[in-house]
Amino acid sequence: MLLLAACGALLAQDHTDIAIEIQPPASWVRAHGRKHVLYEAHITNLSRKTVELTRLEITGGVVFDAARLEQGWVRRPGAEEPPDAVRRIGPGLRAIVLVNAATDAPGISQKAFFRGEDGREFTVTGYVPVRPGRPLVLAAPLRGGGWMALNGLGSLTHHRRSYLSAQGRVAVPQRYAIDWVKLDGDGTMLRPGGGNAAYHGYGVEVLAVADGVVVQVRDGMPDREPFTVSKNPPLTMGESTGNHVVLDLSGSRFAIYAHLQPGSLRVKQGQRVKTGAVLGRLGSSGASDLPHLHFQVADRPEPMESDGVAYVHSSFTAEGHVESFEPLMSGKKAGLRPAAVSGKRVLELPEDQDVVRFP
Ligand SMILES: [Zn+2]
Repeated sequence: MLLLAACGALLAQDHTDIAIEIQPPASWVRAHGRKHVLYEAHITNLSRKTVELTRLEITGGVVFDAARLEQGWVRRPGAEEPPDAVRRIGPGLRAIVLVNAATDAPGISQKAFFRGEDGREFTVTGYVPVRPGRPLVLAAPLRGGGWMALNGLGSLTHHRRSYLSAQGRVAVPQRYAIDWVKLDGDGTMLRPGGGNAAYHGYGVEVLAVADGVVVQVRDGMPDREPFTVSKNPPLTMGESTGNHVVLDLSGSRFAIYAHLQPGSLRVKQGQRVKTGAVLGRLGSSGASDLPHLHFQVADRPEPMESDGVAYVHSSFTAEGHVESFEPLMSGKKAGLRPAAVSGKRVLELPEDQDVVRFP
C-alpha cells in the first residue's frame, strides 16, 4: 500500500508530464578551434496545464535564458506565438529549441527549467546522445579568397530555423548550410553596374567537394534579378533550389549545390566525378536574392526533404569577419574585422559571416 502511494506521488510530479526528445542525435563540427554541438530539443507538454520554459542549460556553461529563447531559438510548430509567449507551452503542445552549443565538454547533458501555472518551478534533466565519430571531411566547393560564409554556423538564420517532415521525421535539411558570397580584395560584394554580373561571385566555377556520383541535376531555370524573389509568384519547394547538382558522397551523405547559373552545368545524372571537378557556375536561380552558392550536406538527395549532415572542410585560411552585411548590398566595403581565430584552419567550418580563402 505504502509503496503504491509513493509511486502515485512520484507520477503526480510535474516533470513526468514533460517529454524532451533529442532529434536526431546531436552532431558536432569544429569552428574557431572549438567544438559546436548542434541538435534540436523537442519539448512536449503531456499534461493538461500550461508550463513555461524559463531556461535551458547545456554542459560547458552554455545557457539559453528567457531573452535568448525569445529571440527565435525556440520554435512553435503550427503556431505563430508572439515572442513574449513563445516559452509558454499549452497542454499537448510542442516547442523546439534549436541548440547550437560551443563546448569542449566530452559528454553533453541538458537541464531544462520550467514554471507551472501554480508558480512551482521544476527541472527536467537528460543526457544528450551525440553521434560518434568525426564529421565528414570535404574539399573546397570554391577556389581562392574573399568567400563569406553567409547564414552559416552559430547564427539564427533561415537555414537553422527551417524544419519540416522528411519521410515522417522532423528534419532540418539546412542545419549546416552556408550561402557562399564572394567579396573582392577591396572588401566589396559588387562593382558598379547593376544586375547579377555586378556581383564578384557571379559565374565563378563551383567544385566537387569529394569523389562522388551525380544523382540529381536541374537546369533551365532563369537567374533572378537581385532582390526580386518576393516580387514574383512563389516558387514550389522543388523550384526553390533553382538549377542544382546533387552529389552522392556514399554513406547516406549528399552534397547539394543550389542556385547555379542556367546553362552552366557541366555534369550529367549518373556521372562519376573526382574531387575538384567543375560542376557548374555560381548563379542566382530559384529562391535567390543575389548571386551565391547555397551549399549543404544532407542524408537524402532531396534538398528540402532530408536532414542536414555535419561536415568540415579539410582546410581554409581565415581572412576576417564581416560585421554588418548591410553596407555590402549598396556596393560599399564590408566592415571587415580581423578573424576571431586567424591563419590556416584545418578540419573546421567557418562561423556565420566569416571570410575565408580556399586553397
Ligand atoms: Zn541558403
